Amino acid sequence: MNGEFEILFCGTGAADHDWSHYGRRGVRGSCSTLLDGRVLVDCGTTGFRSLVRNGIAPRALRELWFTHSHSDHCAPAEVAALLAARGRAAAPLLLRGTAPLLARLGAALEAAGPAGRFEFRPLEPLAPFRTLGWTATALPANHLGSIPGETCVHYLVRAPGASLLYALDGAWMTTAARRAIGSGPLDLVVWDATVQRPGDWRIFEHNDLAMVRTMSARLAADGVVRPGTVQVLDHLAATLWDSPARAPRPFVAARDGLRLAAPREAAVSLGSNLGDRAENLRRALRLLAATPGVRLLARSAIYETEPVDVPPEFAGQDYLNAVAVFEVALPLDAWSARCHAVEDALGRVRTGYHHPRTIDVDLLCCGAAVRDAPHLHLPHPQIASRRFVCAPLAEVRPDLRLPGFSGTVAELLAALPPRPAVRLSAERWDRPSASLRPARGARRTRRP
Ligand SMILES: [Zn+2]
Ligand SMILES: [Zn+2]
Repeated sequence: MNGEFEILFCGTGAADHDWSHYGRRGVRGSCSTLLDGRVLVDCGTTGFRSLVRNGIAPRALRELWFTHSHSDHCAPAEVAALLAARGRAAAPLLLRGTAPLLARLGAALEAAGPAGRFEFRPLEPLAPFRTLGWTATALPANHLGSIPGETCVHYLVRAPGASLLYALDGAWMTTAARRAIGSGPLDLVVWDATVQRPGDWRIFEHNDLAMVRTMSARLAADGVVRPGTVQVLDHLAATLWDSPARAPRPFVAARDGLRLAAPREAAVSLGSNLGDRAENLRRALRLLAATPGVRLLARSAIYETEPVDVPPEFAGQDYLNAVAVFEVALPLDAWSARCHAVEDALGRVRTGYHHPRTIDVDLLCCGAAVRDAPHLHLPHPQIASRRFVCAPLAEVRPDLRLPGFSGTVAELLAALPPRPAVRLSAERWDRPSASLRPARGARRTRRP
């Protein structure tokens, strides 16, 4: 887990998906979500299969939590398959759910014959429980399960480094749930957004987008949902959402296989010395900021820099450089891959070390992460050795302290030699007006 609290959306569909065709394009799995690689929430019609499909070893699970008894959330045959795949040598899987749900599940598992080991942990709605270093609470939900008198539940999890509200299935939010959430800010909210457009009868047990917006705005007014809270729309009905689903900002549409992490700040260095350099920076910034789960917080001015350590034939091609700071809710490897994908999208050809390039997208730091992998050094050593990285970073985050470095970024900059020089460029992030913009492919000229 690399110290990140990660969420993996194994299945994200509502019950109108044709699960006899699970695996075909457009067919989402039944809703099940892996928290921090250890706790699976719900194991419905495709629960075990979606775990396998996402490359999770059944033995990695410590606990299985249930929201309610509908077969798309609790399917005894899939639970039995999961237990059997863990084998009898694995530690018992802890199964948490309300007492009526566990009683019914237990009877079904017994009838199915021997499987792997498990232990029941009945839930008391609204009574917090401690596990894995987290405090979790089952919150009553406005949703009718298949057992008469059953209380369907959502989950509130406060873990080191992440706080999460998992709100599937249900319409609106109960008063008791709202009280239990309190006033502490949330990093992640998973909303039931079964219905994309108002008007479907399912809104009596599920939310449409308008309802989610209302609840989200309410929680935002109370400071529980912050601008950086990542809000995922899940439990998407096939008949009521496009596939692949597009969610309006600030929401992120769930999809099977989506991985998110608790949001943290990440700084990225952008550089270009080939083609329309400023436009390359602008396009890279746009692509990065448009990534689901990513929000632009700050961008430096654009700087111009003499190239460093380049072969003599390229010595005259100055760089434009800038630094952007994002709030990123992707796991580190996914964010790093996204930075590379943006380089590729802008036609970066990896010709040779320190050769000219249309775009360089270098991850400088990401929260408290420290990495020393062949293609990922965090924090990036150039912050302390290169003025063209350190100066724009110091402009937007002067007081930032990086793990493994002594002093602030501003102090690191002050300690750097003055050359190679870095100066502010005349280029701006705002696009030049159409009349001033050179034709595609035209040689770049410096505007007055
Ligand atoms: Zn459901
Ligand atoms: Zn349901």
